[in-house]
Amino acid sequence: MSNPTSIPVALSLGSNLGDREANIEKAVDLLAGTLANICCSSFFCSAPVDCPPDAYDFLNIVVTGETGVGPKELLRECQRIEVEMGRPADHGYHEDRIVDIDILLYGDEVIEESGLTIPHAEMTKREFVLQPLAEIAGDWAIPPEGSTVGDCCHILARTTGT
Ligand code: AMP
Repeated sequence: MSNPTSIPVALSLGSNLGDREANIEKAVDLLAGTLANICCSSFFCSAPVDCPPDAYDFLNIVVTGETGVGPKELLRECQRIEVEMGRPADHGYHEDRIVDIDILLYGDEVIEESGLTIPHAEMTKREFVLQPLAEIAGDWAIPPEGSTVGDCCHILARTTGT
Protein backbone atom coordinates (compact mmCIF):
# COMPACT_ATOMS: atom_id res chain seq x y z
CA MET A 1 0.00 0.00 0.00
CA SER A 2 1.42 3.40 -0.86
CA ASN A 3 1.70 6.05 1.83
CA PRO A 4 0.20 9.29 0.49
CA THR A 5 0.78 11.24 3.72
CA SER A 6 3.30 14.00 3.43
CA ILE A 7 4.41 15.36 6.79
CA PRO A 8 6.55 18.51 7.05
CA VAL A 9 9.69 17.87 9.06
CA ALA A 10 12.71 19.85 10.21
CA LEU A 11 16.13 18.31 10.82
CA SER A 12 19.37 19.72 12.21
CA LEU A 13 22.68 18.61 10.70
CA GLY A 14 26.09 19.31 12.19
CA SER A 15 29.70 18.36 11.48
CA ASN A 16 33.01 19.18 13.15
CA LEU A 17 35.38 16.74 11.44
CA GLY A 18 37.08 16.79 8.03
CA ASP A 19 35.50 18.79 5.22
CA ARG A 20 32.49 19.88 7.28
CA GLU A 21 30.63 21.56 4.42
CA ALA A 22 31.08 18.56 2.12
CA ASN A 23 29.97 16.20 4.90
CA ILE A 24 26.75 18.15 5.42
CA GLU A 25 26.08 18.41 1.69
CA LYS A 26 26.52 14.66 1.29
CA ALA A 27 24.15 13.98 4.20
CA VAL A 28 21.54 16.27 2.61
CA ASP A 29 21.91 14.35 -0.67
CA LEU A 30 21.35 11.08 1.17
CA LEU A 31 18.33 12.50 3.00
CA ALA A 32 16.75 13.24 -0.37
CA GLY A 33 15.90 9.53 -0.50
CA THR A 34 13.45 10.10 2.36
CA LEU A 35 12.57 13.80 2.14
CA ALA A 36 10.89 15.68 -0.70
CA ASN A 37 11.02 19.43 -1.30
CA ILE A 38 14.15 19.89 0.79
CA CYS A 39 14.93 23.47 1.78
CA CYS A 40 18.33 24.23 3.36
CA SER A 41 19.26 27.10 5.66
CA SER A 42 22.61 28.80 5.32
CA PHE A 43 25.55 27.41 7.27
CA PHE A 44 25.94 28.42 10.90
CA CYS A 45 29.32 28.09 12.61
CA SER A 46 29.39 27.55 16.35
CA ALA A 47 31.79 26.64 19.11
CA PRO A 48 31.35 23.08 20.40
CA VAL A 49 29.04 22.72 23.42
CA ASP A 50 29.62 20.02 26.08
CA CYS A 51 32.69 18.80 24.19
CA PRO A 52 36.37 18.47 25.19
CA PRO A 53 38.32 21.77 25.14
CA ASP A 54 40.25 20.75 21.99
CA ALA A 55 37.10 19.92 19.95
CA TYR A 56 36.80 21.59 16.54
CA ASP A 57 34.11 24.17 15.78
CA PHE A 58 30.82 22.91 14.39
CA LEU A 59 29.21 23.78 11.11
CA ASN A 60 25.43 23.38 11.26
CA ILE A 61 22.47 23.74 8.99
CA VAL A 62 18.77 23.05 9.30
CA VAL A 63 16.74 21.46 6.54
CA THR A 64 13.01 21.27 6.11
CA GLY A 65 11.21 18.83 3.84
CA GLU A 66 8.25 16.52 3.58
CA THR A 67 8.26 12.85 4.32
CA GLY A 68 5.96 9.88 3.92
CA VAL A 69 7.71 7.82 6.60
CA GLY A 70 6.86 7.73 10.30
CA PRO A 71 9.05 9.38 12.95
CA LYS A 72 10.80 6.16 14.07
CA GLU A 73 11.59 5.22 10.51
CA LEU A 74 12.89 8.73 9.86
CA LEU A 75 15.16 8.43 12.93
CA ARG A 76 16.43 5.05 11.69
CA GLU A 77 17.19 6.59 8.30
CA CYS A 78 19.08 9.50 9.92
CA GLN A 79 21.10 7.02 11.97
CA ARG A 80 21.74 4.86 8.90
CA ILE A 81 23.15 7.90 7.09
CA GLU A 82 25.35 8.78 10.09
CA VAL A 83 26.78 5.24 10.06
CA GLU A 84 27.15 5.18 6.25
CA MET A 85 29.17 8.39 6.53
CA GLY A 86 31.50 6.90 9.10
CA ARG A 87 30.01 7.26 12.55
CA PRO A 88 31.43 4.43 14.67
CA ALA A 89 28.95 2.16 16.47
CA ASP A 90 30.44 3.09 19.86
CA HIS A 91 30.34 6.84 19.19
CA GLY A 92 30.25 8.80 22.45
CA TYR A 93 27.98 11.78 23.13
CA HIS A 94 30.91 14.21 23.51
CA GLU A 95 32.99 13.03 20.54
CA ASP A 96 33.83 14.91 17.35
CA ARG A 97 31.56 13.86 14.51
CA ILE A 98 31.58 13.63 10.73
CA VAL A 99 27.86 14.22 10.74
CA ASP A 100 25.14 14.37 13.36
CA ILE A 101 21.48 14.45 12.33
CA ASP A 102 18.68 15.30 14.75
CA ILE A 103 14.96 15.41 14.11
CA LEU A 104 13.69 18.76 15.37
CA LEU A 105 10.04 18.78 14.33
CA TYR A 106 7.67 16.25 12.80
CA GLY A 107 4.57 18.14 11.71
CA ASP A 108 2.79 19.33 14.85
CA GLU A 109 3.36 16.07 16.71
CA VAL A 110 4.69 15.66 20.23
CA ILE A 111 6.47 12.31 20.55
CA GLU A 112 7.92 10.89 23.76
CA GLU A 113 9.17 7.40 23.08
CA SER A 114 12.21 5.46 24.11
CA GLY A 115 15.05 6.90 22.02
CA LEU A 116 12.96 9.58 20.35
CA THR A 117 11.79 12.95 21.65
CA ILE A 118 10.07 15.39 19.29
CA PRO A 119 10.24 18.36 19.35
CA HIS A 120 13.95 17.78 19.98
CA ALA A 121 14.55 18.33 23.70
CA GLU A 122 17.32 20.92 23.23
CA MET A 123 16.07 22.76 20.18
CA THR A 124 14.80 25.92 21.88
CA LYS A 125 18.08 26.26 23.82
CA ARG A 126 20.34 26.06 20.78
CA GLU A 127 21.16 29.14 18.76
CA PHE A 128 22.73 26.95 16.05
CA VAL A 129 19.31 25.35 15.60
CA LEU A 130 16.91 28.27 16.05
CA GLN A 131 18.77 30.83 13.95
CA PRO A 132 18.98 28.72 10.78
CA LEU A 133 15.50 27.30 11.33
CA ALA A 134 14.06 30.82 11.74
CA GLU A 135 15.65 31.69 8.40
CA ILE A 136 13.62 29.04 6.52
CA ALA A 137 10.62 28.28 8.79
CA GLY A 138 10.17 31.16 11.25
CA ASP A 139 6.38 30.74 11.39
CA TRP A 140 6.44 27.06 12.37
CA ALA A 141 4.54 26.73 15.69
CA ILE A 142 6.50 24.47 18.04
CA PRO A 143 4.16 22.06 19.84
CA PRO A 144 2.73 21.74 22.36
CA GLU A 145 2.78 25.45 23.37
CA GLY A 146 2.70 26.79 19.82
CA SER A 147 5.31 29.54 20.09
CA THR A 148 6.80 30.11 16.68
CA VAL A 149 10.39 29.33 15.80
CA GLY A 150 10.94 33.04 15.16
CA ASP A 151 9.63 34.02 18.61
CA CYS A 152 11.76 31.36 20.33
CA CYS A 153 14.77 32.60 18.39
CA HIS A 154 14.20 36.19 19.60
CA ILE A 155 13.71 35.04 23.18
CA LEU A 156 16.92 32.98 23.11
CA ALA A 157 18.86 35.87 21.57
CA ARG A 158 17.63 38.17 24.37
CA THR A 159 18.60 35.59 27.00
CA THR A 160 22.08 35.03 25.62
CA GLY A 161 22.60 38.67 24.68
CA THR A 162 23.48 37.88 21.06
P1 AMP B 1 23.49 11.99 19.08
O1 AMP B 1 23.41 11.45 17.69
O2 AMP B 1 24.74 11.60 19.78
O3 AMP B 1 23.16 13.44 19.14
O4 AMP B 1 22.32 11.30 19.95
C1 AMP B 1 21.44 10.45 19.36
C2 AMP B 1 20.57 9.84 20.44
O5 AMP B 1 19.50 10.71 20.75
C3 AMP B 1 20.00 8.54 19.96
O6 AMP B 1 20.05 7.62 20.99
C4 AMP B 1 18.56 8.89 19.63
O7 AMP B 1 17.72 7.77 19.84
C5 AMP B 1 18.28 9.99 20.61
N1 AMP B 1 17.23 10.93 20.21
C6 AMP B 1 16.17 11.29 20.96
N2 AMP B 1 15.40 12.17 20.32
C7 AMP B 1 15.98 12.40 19.11
C8 AMP B 1 15.65 13.24 18.00
N3 AMP B 1 14.56 14.04 18.01
N4 AMP B 1 16.48 13.22 16.92
C9 AMP B 1 17.59 12.45 16.91
N5 AMP B 1 17.97 11.64 17.94
C10 AMP B 1 17.17 11.62 19.04
